[in-house]
Amino acid sequence: MLDFLGNLKRTHYCGHLRSKDAGHDAIVMGWVAKRRDLGNMLFLDIRDRSGIVQVVFNKETQPEAHAKAEEARGEFVVAVEGKVVQRQKPNPEIGTGEIEIIAGRLHILNNAKTTPFPIEDEITAAEETRLRYRYLDLRRNKPHRNIVLRHKIVLEIRKAMDEMGFVEVETPMLTRSTPEGARDYLVPSRVHHGQFYALPQSPQIFKQILMIGGLDRYFQIVKCFRDEDLRADRQPEFTQLDLEMSFPRQEDIFNVIETVMVRACGVAGVTATAPFPHMLYKDAIRKYGSDKPDLRFGMELHEVTDCFPEEARQKLQIEGSVFAFGAPGAANYSRKQLDELTEKAKSAGARGAYFVKLAPEGTTSTVEKLVGPENVKKLAESAGAKPGDLVVAVSAKQQIKGTEAAALVAGQLRLQLGDALGLIDRTQWKFLWITGFPLFEWSESDQQWVSAQHPFTGIVDEDLEKLETAPWEVRSKGYDLVLNGSELGSGSIRIHRQDIQERLFKALGLSDEQVRRRFSFFLDALTYGTPPHGGIALGIDRIAMLLGGEKSLREVVAFPKTARAQDLMAESPSEVDTIQEEELEILGAFSRLHPQNWALTEICDRLTSSVDHNLLNKVLPVDTHFQQAMSLIISKSRDDARAVIRLSKAGYGLQAAGLSRSVVESAINSLYIALNPEVNGDAYLKSIRESNKVLAKRFKPHASTEEMKEVIRNAEAIDEQSGWPKMLRQRVQALPQPMYLYDVSYLMLSQLLHGDIAAVAGKVEEDQSGKYKIQIGPTNKWVPQALATCFIGFHQIATVAYDAFGLNKTQLEEFGQQFKDFTKALDQSLL
Ligand code: ASP
Repeated sequence: MLDFLGNLKRTHYCGHLRSKDAGHDAIVMGWVAKRRDLGNMLFLDIRDRSGIVQVVFNKETQPEAHAKAEEARGEFVVAVEGKVVQRQKPNPEIGTGEIEIIAGRLHILNNAKTTPFPIEDEITAAEETRLRYRYLDLRRNKPHRNIVLRHKIVLEIRKAMDEMGFVEVETPMLTRSTPEGARDYLVPSRVHHGQFYALPQSPQIFKQILMIGGLDRYFQIVKCFRDEDLRADRQPEFTQLDLEMSFPRQEDIFNVIETVMVRACGVAGVTATAPFPHMLYKDAIRKYGSDKPDLRFGMELHEVTDCFPEEARQKLQIEGSVFAFGAPGAANYSRKQLDELTEKAKSAGARGAYFVKLAPEGTTSTVEKLVGPENVKKLAESAGAKPGDLVVAVSAKQQIKGTEAAALVAGQLRLQLGDALGLIDRTQWKFLWITGFPLFEWSESDQQWVSAQHPFTGIVDEDLEKLETAPWEVRSKGYDLVLNGSELGSGSIRIHRQDIQERLFKALGLSDEQVRRRFSFFLDALTYGTPPHGGIALGIDRIAMLLGGEKSLREVVAFPKTARAQDLMAESPSEVDTIQEEELEILGAFSRLHPQNWALTEICDRLTSSVDHNLLNKVLPVDTHFQQAMSLIISKSRDDARAVIRLSKAGYGLQAAGLSRSVVESAINSLYIALNPEVNGDAYLKSIRESNKVLAKRFKPHASTEEMKEVIRNAEAIDEQSGWPKMLRQRVQALPQPMYLYDVSYLMLSQLLHGDIAAVAGKVEEDQSGKYKIQIGPTNKWVPQALATCFIGFHQIATVAYDAFGLNKTQLEEFGQQFKDFTKALDQSLL
């Protein structure tokens, strides 16, 4: 039987009881952390937020309480009334170790199932289990401590910001896209079909607008959302300290942040001293091979390119520069250790790694034969190495425009070796400002210059004129704050003039139309007297993680997501009800699509995007009937194919299969045209006009305006025989090879429509009386059939179209082969 809380009132938190409380009555409430039954004496450790206290139940003096305690089990929720007494044998391990409570009464307020892992400081449970039962995990001391620390940090930040005259303003969560370089999380609008809100990647535009609105000093502790590819140490939703101020010099912003950070460190018991040092971006790269250098240890990099003469460069295939550093005391590294370092260097992007050992028995080098003893000596000197050191030099495999690729690789090795050699002083807190960033960075995937930060970052005044002519030389007014090798956040003095902001969007390759669609409200706002302004945002989760001495953000977020962006406890993301999907007019997806189906959609995706790239995005000649006919067919069937793929990805195999039939028909038309391209192409075009004539007849009675009547008169005047065989079967029969596609698609459709009811409509079961029953419901069958048909059909259309426009078919042929190989290997039960 469970007891009621009734009027019982707690007098003390468990963990707060001390010697001074001895002799007093106490009522504590919490969970049973441990139970030890010694017969006449029974001990319960009771845990609450503050810690643990030991309670003693004595069978002789308090038989009733003792009997009840025998029922109590781990994680039961209890209230204890008793007297605090000094312990005979204090336990120095716990804060309350000098006292214990002699129980007078025990109330069992709730019971608990056996927990999937023990609620203890050190546990071995998999992180997945901990996240699934996060409420149990949170009862542990460490997560608790982290969450309280985080609270204290945030509270201190708020106090500091308020004292410096900043006003906290909330900005919308349902908004439009804010470019911070990630994908948006979108929220479909129920009221405005086809329109979406985006969750903010940051409040960037809003905080700038607050400056235009005269707020002068804004801050916010705010959630931001970024849909990025899997990366360790990222959460799809995270918290920023976001701020913005009007008329600032860079140092004003630095002062604010330094004050805030020193105070935040203070509440975590960490001493930080301001001002923080500054470093130029290019120096950070050249000296540390990183834009977020860890200054807790030395091992600076040095350029040693000139220690590698031309001949050696050719032999070693070195392009670009070579960077090196000395690893203190590592001259005794074994051959195996050097091989491992080389492997590590290669996976970090090195062309090669070259070593010099400054051992007591003499200097040796892996490149001595190639560069000569003089250069080996020079290399060691340039790298600043001392006797006993190992010099590590690297060149990069790929040169990256606008940066030192070799330095970046060397920087990663520096971190690895610094750690391995135990050089990182973990008691130090090294803050650093990085300035002088380039405004743009080169994007290999987009093959163009993109914003290194976001497109509102200010431009160094004297570099403005190079914006259009030499974008790679333009420096930004951006800055980053770094702590112990982690980036805490970044900010900038902004562009506050509309004309410059527009020029920047152009330099980023945005068309007038794109700028108008995405940013016109902001550009407009800039024209109404925008003060010079600037700001920064720092990652609160990361600050809490570092100050809490944790290695993962998940340790300082109450309900974190996994690297696959899932909340294992709440089981989100999740499917939604059909009703909700329909209100939103979105296409909900069946969640469990077979992995082979995903592979098939990928092959189809590759085919359509290659056709988009090679044919549909080009300006093409339409000189011949063949070309005209094929341009119509390919553009229609491209959209059909995309729709088949989209429906398939969502699991709507039945609907996709229906639509793939239309791709098949276009394929048959293409093959028929290819039999005699000019004549049949012409016939195809005429047949469209012919069907217009038929349509015109039907519409005639409805034509109300002069324009409509004119269209109908023109259509009726069409007076040509197309020669296009009316029936699909006729076109098929004209083709030389057996029309596999035609047969398949009809077979499929007729099966779908007339065949196995279960396949189409749902699950059929025989009940006890031998009668059949059907459960009608959504089904995600027929996906692979739809995709395979769509692939084969669209591939044939593309082949004919490429012929019509004289395009190279090598890639198409490769896709065809890949598809064949894939379907051969495919689990036949799927098809
Ligand atoms: N909005 C930027 C970010 O989230 C920070 C800033 O420029 O203030 O990184």
